[in-house]
Amino acid sequence: MIQLYIPLNFLGVIYREIKQALTDLEKMFGLLEREREVADAPGAPELKVGAGAVRFEHVDFAYDPARPILHDVSFEIPPGRTVAVVGASGAGKSTLARLLYRFYDVAGGRITIDGQDIRQCTQASLRRAIGIVPQDTVLFNDTVEYNIAYGRPGASRAEVEAAARQARIHDFIASTPKGYATMVGERGLKLSGGEKQRVAIARTLLKDPPVLIFDEATSALDSANERAIQAELRSAAQGKTALVIAHRLSTVVDAYEIVVLDQGRVVERGAHAELLARNGRYAQMWQLQQAAQDADEPAAV
Ligand code: ATP
Repeated sequence: MIQLYIPLNFLGVIYREIKQALTDLEKMFGLLEREREVADAPGAPELKVGAGAVRFEHVDFAYDPARPILHDVSFEIPPGRTVAVVGASGAGKSTLARLLYRFYDVAGGRITIDGQDIRQCTQASLRRAIGIVPQDTVLFNDTVEYNIAYGRPGASRAEVEAAARQARIHDFIASTPKGYATMVGERGLKLSGGEKQRVAIARTLLKDPPVLIFDEATSALDSANERAIQAELRSAAQGKTALVIAHRLSTVVDAYEIVVLDQGRVVERGAHAELLARNGRYAQMWQLQQAAQDADEPAAV
């Protein structure tokens, strides 16, 4: 009996882990059905990442063919640079992140990493190359250590702690009675949005992928928290190719390039100063946000 029990128990654990991992990803992206529509091409090779150049080339996309979302979107993120995408709510910003992680396939055009079409390589190798800090991080009902180490299974406690320090969540963890053994999630310690995002940053730092996607939280954090998260993000993005989906323009001032999306189309591209000088859509958004800040209202764009 015991001989049967152990493997069954083991299978149960594996099942629970897989199910939880899927739940996490699905919740992250609000997807359930579509992910299964993306499949590896037969005999697909692994993605080989060198410098880590990301290109969106004439990308079209629709969740529902009757309602196109992205139209002919082209931009590139040179190796090691940060490109930020801004635009009104519903413009299609997070959709770009979902396409790069290949939760969906593009309907037209292509996305490449170091020249390789991401549809033509295995999903596993693509996802190993990319770290995501989503808008709303969903944590596993497990320990803080597990949640951070998930970025690199088998990581040592020292490595987990180093990542937590870099993401500036270590002191908070150390102040809890059980430290890294503290259970988090629905059945454990409830973390604030900012704390959860720092756990996700620590996880990503540990994973140390060449490509990073940061989907900024829509909900405005208080300005001290926001500055802290931005500093952590900058340190996480150092030397990596990063796509930042920004809701607050203060996040993007230092970006190599800012892509302004309006109803699924790129309407402007350039660095902060260039776009301000152009006095177009970005400059308008910037002025609106400055005015809102002066009125002491947290505003998202
Ligand atoms: P926000 O700033 O509010 O996060 P966004 O620019 O990131 O917005 P997306 O999340 O990319 O916008 O959504 C673009 C459009 O696609 C929206 O109109 C949205 O309703 C639609 N959309 C998003 N996800 C899905 C989905 N899973 N199924 C169908 N439509 C979707």
